[in-house]
Amino acid sequence: MNICWGFYPQQEQQMATKRQRDWQRSRVYKWERAHFGEKCPELTLDECRELVSRTAQFYPGFLCPEVTDGRGRRKGGYCRHTNTIKLPRFTRTHWYACHEIAHAIVAQFYDRDGVLAAHGVMFVSVYINVLAKLKISEARALRRSAEYWKVKHI
Ligand SMILES: [Zn+2]
Repeated sequence: MNICWGFYPQQEQQMATKRQRDWQRSRVYKWERAHFGEKCPELTLDECRELVSRTAQFYPGFLCPEVTDGRGRRKGGYCRHTNTIKLPRFTRTHWYACHEIAHAIVAQFYDRDGVLAAHGVMFVSVYINVLAKLKISEARALRRSAEYWKVKHI
């Protein structure tokens, strides 16, 4: 959910001026919660790591992010500078882990300059693809619910 874009204030400032506004973030959050519901089984950190390595089969060249305990954080998050996914306990579900994996894929393959909206059309398209490839939900059902929640994707 949270993305750390940089540790250097100057770099962060430059990125902030170039980056597209994150116009559909709250819609994405509503959509994924509605699609998966509140009662998702909690995964272990190792199960989350396993999702990351399974994803790599579908994205050749994907540098698997390190998955760490996000203890003390209020949200999960992906940091592109350290290629790390942080998952506090309450975020360890299939869809939440895939959300962060999708951020990692977008950062590595489609948005190396960090200009795209964090939860824009590219992110949602990759997210749907990851969820479908890992057989967590069907692409068609995801697209249908995304349309219902007015979440744009490619
Ligand atoms: Zn996010």
